[in-house]
Amino acid sequence: MAARKPRIATCHMAGCFGCHMSLLDIDERILKLIELVDFDKSPIDDIKELSGPVDVGIIEGGVANEENVEVLRSFREHCTTLVAIGECALTGGVPSMRNLVPLSECLEEAYLHGPTVVDGVIPNDPELPLLLDRVYPCHEVVKIDWMLPGCPPSADELWAALTALLSGKPPELTPGLIRYD
Ligand code: SF4
Repeated sequence: MAARKPRIATCHMAGCFGCHMSLLDIDERILKLIELVDFDKSPIDDIKELSGPVDVGIIEGGVANEENVEVLRSFREHCTTLVAIGECALTGGVPSMRNLVPLSECLEEAYLHGPTVVDGVIPNDPELPLLLDRVYPCHEVVKIDWMLPGCPPSADELWAALTALLSGKPPELTPGLIRYD
């Protein structure tokens, strides 16, 4: 019987998808990655729910609403190793600029008083996840095992970290691989 391959899951929370795009920037190494691992829930394969234990969970984005909290807690519960990638996951990043003003003021400016708003209304569909009072970095909500900085972390940084983790080694941060562009 073939040995079980390690399972990887990724999720996108309050971020811009740039970290996932950077992961796809590993280019042809994606073929090697598919040989090395099986993918579970991820925007890459569009699997919506975690199907069981996962070896490495990768989180992009900060925690801005109740759905983010739920997803992050579920990843923590199911993933042996949880890795936060990119400044949004590590610090809240650009979405956390809203932390400078009360949430009610943000909503009013965006949906009622903004210069381009006509007949505005603050969205209140019950299907929408409730916004949190502020945007939180992931480690303030669950324990994070490894953090990869960058905006986004480079494809080479992500590849080096992933292959290290899959070999049972700690990821090493190489200054030349960390970028903020
Ligand atoms: S860290 Fe940068 S690239 Fe990644 S989700 Fe945030 S803004 Fe986008």
